[in-house]
Amino acid sequence: MAEEKEITAADLNAQDATLLRDLEDAMANCMKCGNCQAVCPIYRETRQENMVARGKISLMQGVLSGKIPVSANFDHIMAMCLNCKSCAANCPCGVEADELILRGRNASVKARGLHPIKKNVFRLLANRSLFDAALKLGGMFGWMTFKEVPGKNAVKSRLPMPGMDPERATPPLAAKPLRSQYPEVIKCDNPKYRVAFFTGCTINYMYTDMGKAVIDVLHANDVEVVLPPKQHCCGTPVHVSGEFDLANEMAKNMIEVFENLDVDYIVGACGSCVEALKHYPVWLKDDPEWKARAEKMAAKVREISELLMERGYRTDILGPVNKKVTMHDPCHMVRGLGITKEPRDVLKSIPGLEFIEMKEHDRCCGSGGSFCMAHYEMSREINDRKCSNIDATHADFVATSCPSCRMHITDGIIHNKMPQVVYHPIQLLAQSYYAGGYKA
Ligand code: SF4
Ligand code: SF4
Repeated sequence: MAEEKEITAADLNAQDATLLRDLEDAMANCMKCGNCQAVCPIYRETRQENMVARGKISLMQGVLSGKIPVSANFDHIMAMCLNCKSCAANCPCGVEADELILRGRNASVKARGLHPIKKNVFRLLANRSLFDAALKLGGMFGWMTFKEVPGKNAVKSRLPMPGMDPERATPPLAAKPLRSQYPEVIKCDNPKYRVAFFTGCTINYMYTDMGKAVIDVLHANDVEVVLPPKQHCCGTPVHVSGEFDLANEMAKNMIEVFENLDVDYIVGACGSCVEALKHYPVWLKDDPEWKARAEKMAAKVREISELLMERGYRTDILGPVNKKVTMHDPCHMVRGLGITKEPRDVLKSIPGLEFIEMKEHDRCCGSGGSFCMAHYEMSREINDRKCSNIDATHADFVATSCPSCRMHITDGIIHNKMPQVVYHPIQLLAQSYYAGGYKA
């Protein structure tokens, strides 16, 4: 009878190593030059080598060699990243460290499972009807739990909330979600073209003012807008947590909702959502049939300012907005999509609006999706630097094309007792249309 082989720690480590085997060549391209250290917001706060991309790659190489296990410490170090992509953008060797770190998170999910809180949150997020019911209920009774921060479109909790710093300001949940405020098709008389609006969760349930601005601007430009009712989360929060299997299922659901619509474009106003929709072919690269369907859909996807610059927009009804504005570039817009000029061109076309560029306009604000919930103190310190750059411009408004950045920068502005209000650039264009006489 064959002797049963005892499983050793080395065997377990070797199993972990197989999770990263296909990254061997990509990681070997890192020559450990340290360029990524100079631009990493997490390193600036912690000064710890294992927090920077180079340190994380070394750690993953340790796992790959079977010397280091995928442990709680590995999990923690991989989690300490904003996915801001600054390391990749500044790497002389073309190492996509941000993507490698997501693979590290994926290895951790596979070896150790998801944290129970995340598991439950993602279960809720993946269930469209349940998620919708929960957020609608929250919107109806939010006034009991939250108090308003005047003039900032923000609230603070009256009661201690699990996992949330009591000082944190967030956007209010909408009493009525955006998609419940409109018919499925917002018609116009002689449409120039048709778009499907991917609202994303934050715009649908919280920042409905951003969604209204998108719809009004498109309508003012004779564009018919379709709001597919079965759309849901794009899957970004799940993907960046390393739970690729579930994120891919969510991507497939969205492809099924959007692929056969009779529209010329699929438009979004959140840089992270738009990046996800455009990158579904990469998420689904191992499944040829779904990859092809994702590519077909992705070809129609545009960020709203990208669409306006491509197709043109009415300038004859622009009215004055006599304010100073500065702009924060969300990481997923600037380094994910490479879109920086289009929102600026939109802003600069508005009469009366004085545009002032801030220092480090493309540096991460510290939000990092759920990072700012889990590591609030650190994300606030990163945000303080952003706020001080905003303050130096003496602007009235901050424009940014991402609802998460809007949320986080608003929190920083409130904490730092600053006068600015944060908007999406499309809201300032809508304001200009209203000032010019356009009636929604
Ligand atoms: S900049 Fe690129 S090559 Fe240099 S240490 Fe960082 S990841 Fe490695
Ligand atoms: S993605 Fe950003 S936070 Fe993460 S390691 Fe790279 S530079 Fe640091």
